[in-house]
Amino acid sequence: MEFCSYCKTKIEIDSPHCSNCGISLYASEDEKSKYITNIHRAREKFVEASGAMHRAKWVLFVIGFASLFFHFFLLYLGKIELADFIFLGGLSGLLVAAGFLTNDYPIPSVIVGIIFVVGIYAYQFYIDLDGLFKGIIWKIVILSSLIYALKSAIEFEKMIEN
Ligand SMILES: [Zn+2]
Repeated sequence: MEFCSYCKTKIEIDSPHCSNCGISLYASEDEKSKYITNIHRAREKFVEASGAMHRAKWVLFVIGFASLFFHFFLLYLGKIELADFIFLGGLSGLLVAAGFLTNDYPIPSVIVGIIFVVGIYAYQFYIDLDGLFKGIIWKIVILSSLIYALKSAIEFEKMIEN
């Protein structure tokens, strides 16, 4: 009984490749080590890509939930009307929903997320003229996180393509 030198899977008689990892069983040692390096690199890339996608997802989740609670708090304090909360809280909820979609559509989800956040800011500005400048540091932090998420999503799609 023979076993694959790389993944230790049992080798089928007359098969030129390992049925599990695909390594050529007639390859020279040099070719084998190259193949193995490629497998490792592909695996590392996949882990990196998944990490990038998860970062993008968490940015949307955190911003969405934080925004939802923030506007709920404003409603509780009587700073905004219920109708305002429905719009602002709704957009925040949609941000969380976009987070769920990053697995399947990383770049569109983050772009839609950015549009929702800009929508939230525009509405805050519309109901209160100071709105755009209140908590400007937070807005910069949030937008930077979203740009970071977009970069991660682009990284993910690039790595998945290769
Ligand atoms: Zn194998």
